[in-house]
Amino acid sequence: MMILPEFELLRPRSVDEAIAAARGASGRFDYLAGGTDLLCNYKWGINTEPTVISLRHIADLRGRDGGRVGGGVTLGELERDADFLHDYPVFERTLDRLASPLIRQTGTVAGNLLVDTRCIWLNQSEFARQALGNCLKADGPECRVVKGSTDYCYANYSGDMAPVFMVLGATITLAGPDGQRTMPLREFFVGDGIERFVKKKEEIVVSIDIPSDAKTLRASYQKFRVREAWDFPELAVAAAARMDGDRIAELFLVANAVSTIPLWLDDVAQKHVGATLDDASIEEIVADVMKASKPVRATLLPPTYRKQMVGVMTRRALREIRGDADAGAQPGTQPGTQPGAAA
Ligand SMILES: Cc1cc2nc3c(=O)[nH]c(=O)nc-3n(C[C@H](O)[C@H](O)[C@H](O)COP(=O)(O)OP(=O)(O)OC[C@H]3O[C@@H](n4cnc5c(N)ncnc54)[C@H](O)[C@@H]3O)c2cc1C
Ligand code: SF4
Repeated sequence: MMILPEFELLRPRSVDEAIAAARGASGRFDYLAGGTDLLCNYKWGINTEPTVISLRHIADLRGRDGGRVGGGVTLGELERDADFLHDYPVFERTLDRLASPLIRQTGTVAGNLLVDTRCIWLNQSEFARQALGNCLKADGPECRVVKGSTDYCYANYSGDMAPVFMVLGATITLAGPDGQRTMPLREFFVGDGIERFVKKKEEIVVSIDIPSDAKTLRASYQKFRVREAWDFPELAVAAAARMDGDRIAELFLVANAVSTIPLWLDDVAQKHVGATLDDASIEEIVADVMKASKPVRATLLPPTYRKQMVGVMTRRALREIRGDADAGAQPGTQPGTQPGAAA
């Protein structure tokens, strides 16, 4: 089915009104921002709800001030925000290669963080899914990717912004019926392809906050996708480091689109703090990131290939951070960096 199902559309003007509307819907609702993800799933008949609560008219979600980005800021607004890109230039290439200019005009930062997990069995029309046999995430008893799994969905997390915010140390602020709470974004993502994060259904993403000391990190986001025109990542690696000369003083790593959540690789990163960022230590980090990444057959490309490419993307990210001129390699897989960052 490629037409929208019927639903009641509510348009609250404040966060409190939106939460009240959510409570009134008794759990049978979805929040709507740009709709570039949610409404695609609705057109496919995936997990639709009778009530949709639009957050587009809530001014409090729209602002950007320093490292604070409102959940309702569009990706297009952010990519045209010269001050923001000056402070965090890694987002320039991240945004440039995220979906398409048209989608970025509408798609929001919060919607991107909460983008639904993807799977070759799931992202199909209702007709195709029924023909293939429904699955655990929508209308079926069992996972099709990992046969026999009746309580764990392996669908792929594919948002491009979360890993970059994570390596910069960002926090996320949620508003819900019990008030506001803030947590490191790296603690926000948990669970399988259905659960995905700690957010309760009624909670609204108010803002993302990047700490000011992130301006002095060197950062890179390396994304690998099938189509260069626009596409979700088949895999990606985000890295940020604070360098002390050629020595790694701090290191933050996320392997993206190889699991149900962006993988925060703290053990790998901590192991290499203090090392000199030479070719030998880059290869050690590459091997560790590959070992920690265990993609399954939920996307187009085979898991073994994606694991290999995680290594390639990690190597490119670290070389970019080191300042190698040729680190970006192929067209379309150029990294975003913070070349001006202080050592
Ligand atoms: C052709 C195509 C290509 C794409 N390519 C990419 C890509 O390369 N990389 C990528 O990352 N994404 C991609 N996307 C996905 C999507 O467009 C983006 O992730 C976009 O940022 C989603 O934002 P949105 O505002 O449209 O979200 P919506 O579709 O409105 O919402 C997405 C989810 O977030 C929830 N939500 C939204 N805002 C809030 C809030 N403030 N509080 C609580 N819940 C909220 C919704 O309830 C929903 O569950 C692509 C989409 C399409 C159609
Ligand atoms: S991973 Fe399994 S349960 Fe999840 S969407 Fe794919 S087939 Fe369905």
